[in-house]
Amino acid sequence: MQLDLTPYISLITTSGVLNTFLCLYVFFKKREFPEARLLVWWTALQSVYIFAFAFELASDTLEEIKRWGVVEYIGIAFTPVVGLLLIMRYIDWNISRRTARAMFIIPAITFLLVATNESHHLFYKDVYLRSDTPTPMADIVIGDWYIVHGAYTFGCLFAGAILLLRQWFKTKKTFRIQLLTLLCGQSLPMIGAFLYLIGATPYGADPVPFILSITSALYIWAILSTRLLMIVPIAKENIFESMREGVIVLDRSGRLIDYNKAASRMIPALRRSLLGKRLVDIWENLTGLPHYGLKRPGADETVQELQWESGGVLSIYQAKLSIVRGRGGDVIGDLLMLVDVTEQKRLEEQLRHMAYYDGLTGIYNRTQFIIRAKEQLELSALRERPTSVILFDIDNFKAFNDSYGHETGDDVLRHAAAVCQRELKPDMLFARYGGEEFVVALHGELPESADLIAERLRIALSGNTLDTPAHGSLTVTASFGVASSMDSAASLETLLREADAALYEAKRGGRNRVCRYQGRLAAT
Ligand code: GH3
Ligand code: MG
Ligand code: MG
Repeated sequence: MQLDLTPYISLITTSGVLNTFLCLYVFFKKREFPEARLLVWWTALQSVYIFAFAFELASDTLEEIKRWGVVEYIGIAFTPVVGLLLIMRYIDWNISRRTARAMFIIPAITFLLVATNESHHLFYKDVYLRSDTPTPMADIVIGDWYIVHGAYTFGCLFAGAILLLRQWFKTKKTFRIQLLTLLCGQSLPMIGAFLYLIGATPYGADPVPFILSITSALYIWAILSTRLLMIVPIAKENIFESMREGVIVLDRSGRLIDYNKAASRMIPALRRSLLGKRLVDIWENLTGLPHYGLKRPGADETVQELQWESGGVLSIYQAKLSIVRGRGGDVIGDLLMLVDVTEQKRLEEQLRHMAYYDGLTGIYNRTQFIIRAKEQLELSALRERPTSVILFDIDNFKAFNDSYGHETGDDVLRHAAAVCQRELKPDMLFARYGGEEFVVALHGELPESADLIAERLRIALSGNTLDTPAHGSLTVTASFGVASSMDSAASLETLLREADAALYEAKRGGRNRVCRYQGRLAAT
C-alpha cells in the first residue's frame, strides 16, 4: 500500500463507517422508520460498495483490484434501484411488487456479467493497470453492457430526483428539509458519477465514495436532528384525492378552485374547464338543482341533504359548507364537503318500513295498528264520533298449509290482504293482526256502515279466488267480528276484545259470515 493514498482511503473508510452506522441505527430502531427495510438495504449496499472500494485502492496487484471490483458491484449495481424505491415509498408513489422486482433485473444481470467478465468481456473489454499513477490503479475499457448499466443507473438517479422535485410543492414546509436532504443524497452522487464517467476527475478516480461520506453525514445529521425519514409526509395531494368524501374548494368569492376525484364522481359534469367559475352560477348545470341553497356554518344549518342524479342513479348527499381561514385567521374561502348517504338513507327507510309494515303482506303490522288506532280513537272521542273495529280470521287456513304447503299458505295471506285493501278507503286503518287474522279500524263510520264494510270484505274474499299454477283456483273465506263504540266510552282494548268475541260467534255459526258484538250496543 502506498502512503500517499492513505488520507484518501481513510476518508473513504470513514464514509463506510458512517454508512454502516446509519444501517445499524435504522436496523435497531426499525419501528421508528416507516420504510426501515429499504433504508437498511440501501445503506448496507452503500457500505459494501464503499469498503470494497477502499480495499481496491489499497490493492497492489491487478488481480486484487479486479476481485474487489466485483464486490463493489454488489453495491454499485443495486443501490440506485433501492434508492429509487425508497423515494417512491417515501412520497407514497405506489408500484406493484412485480414492477419493483422487475426493476432489479438489469442490476442482477450487471452483477453477473461483472463477476464473470473474464469469460465474455461484455462489461469491461479490458481492465489494466495505469502507468501514470503513483500507486497501482486500474483503468478500464468499457464493454457493451457497461453502457446499459450506466444508462440504467443514471435513469434511476434522475427519476428519483425528478420525483423529489415534483413533491417539493406538494409538501408542507416542515417536511421540505427532509426532501432537500433526500435530494442532495440523490443528486450529489449522480453528479460525481457523471464527472467520473466523462473523465473529469483527477487520475480518473471515482469520487462517488468520497461524496457518499458527505451525504451519509448529512443523513445522520438530519435523522438525529430533524427525525428525517421517521415520518412519512403523505402528500396532501394523495389524501385529498383518495378521500371518499367529495371535496370542492372555493375562493372567497365562491369561485371554483379545486375538487377531488370523489367530487367528480358525485358530480360527473364537474370539469377542469369550470375552474374559476362561481359555483352558484354553475350549480344548476352541475346538479340539476335549481337552487344553490348551500349555507355556511354559522347560519341556521350546517349540514344539508341534497339529492341529484349522477350516472343515471339518484343519490343523496350530505353537503357541508365550511369556512377556510388563512394563517391570520381571515376567511380565504369555503370548503364544500359531500358525503354520499344514499345507502344509509336506504337502510333507514328499510328499517322504518320494517318497523311499520308486515313483511309478508305489506300492510301495517300489529304494533303500528295499535299506535295509530289509539291516536284515532282519542281524536274520535274528542269529537264524540263513533269508532268500529272489524276483526277477521281466515277460515280453515291450516288446511291450506297442510294440503298445499306453507308457501301457498303465504300466498293465501297476501291474496286476502290485497283483496281487502282494494275494498277499503285509504283512511281506513287496515293491518295484519297476527297469523291469519286481520283487523280494520273505522273512525267516524256508523255501526251499520261498519257491518256493511265487513260484509263487503267477506263477499270480496269469497268471490275472488286465488289462482295457483300448481293447485288451481282456491277459494278463501273468512269470518268477521265487528264491535263499535258510539263515543269515548270504549278503549281500543275493549273494542278488540269485543270484536274477537263476535268473531268467535261467526266461527261457531258456521264461518264465512259477519257477526256483531251485541253486548255494548244493546246496553247503550
Ligand atoms: P279457523 O277456521 O278456526 O280459523 O281454522 P284455522 O285453520 O284457520 O285456524 P288455526 O288457528 O287452527 O290455524 C292457523 C294456522 O295459521 C296455524 C299457523 O301455523 C298458520 N300460520 C300463522 N301464520 C302464518 C304465516 O305467516 N304463514 C303461513 N303459511 N301460515 C301461518
Ligand atoms: Mg283461521
Ligand atoms: Mg286464527
